[in-house]
Amino acid sequence: MASDGYLTPSHRMMAGGPSDIAQRSLMSASPHSDEFPRQLTHREAEVLDFMLAVEDPRIEPLRAQRRGVVATGRCGCGCASIDLAVDRAQSQPATICSPPIEANLNRAKAALADPDEAYGLLVFLDDGWLSLLEIWWIKKPPGEFPPPQAFHTPEVTCDRFEAALAEMRRSSNEASLAGNAHGRLHGATRALQRLLGRRPTTDIRER
Ligand SMILES: [Zn+2]
Repeated sequence: MASDGYLTPSHRMMAGGPSDIAQRSLMSASPHSDEFPRQLTHREAEVLDFMLAVEDPRIEPLRAQRRGVVATGRCGCGCASIDLAVDRAQSQPATICSPPIEANLNRAKAALADPDEAYGLLVFLDDGWLSLLEIWWIKKPPGEFPPPQAFHTPEVTCDRFEAALAEMRRSSNEASLAGNAHGRLHGATRALQRLLGRRPTTDIRER
């Protein structure tokens, strides 16, 4: 899986943006329909609840949002990923990264026919509001979410992402410090050349 796809929703949704559609008719949402917005199917609800059950106080606002969630679109690739929208008047946004929760395939329990196939689950937020329940896949888009038992216990991703980002920043800082040191060495070498009035000997050589 590409890292770009990991950090941002990689699937195109067939219906429009979550907020306008969801606010239009929360009351008329019906299950098992291809019309949006609609209530979650049994499996979608099961998988979302599985993801939101992760133990972390930062997830609490998402569990509250869950009560008013509707599906507002489905991924155009044929996979089961759904756009989500919540009743923003009845809940609070979460203060947490996006995607905050992931679950990886439990290969032993998933028993996929194709050993080269893999799935993973991600929950994405839009400014702290539930916005996308995504399944990523390798070979063939799954038309339905596998049951939660096919996945390992979900995890909050933020701390790991932040650690990775900090590590990237630290590495790039070190690289720029090294660059500066290299620059200073060049400056010192040139100053010495001027003092000596000639090219440096083999003892002081610009690299
Ligand atoms: Zn898709």
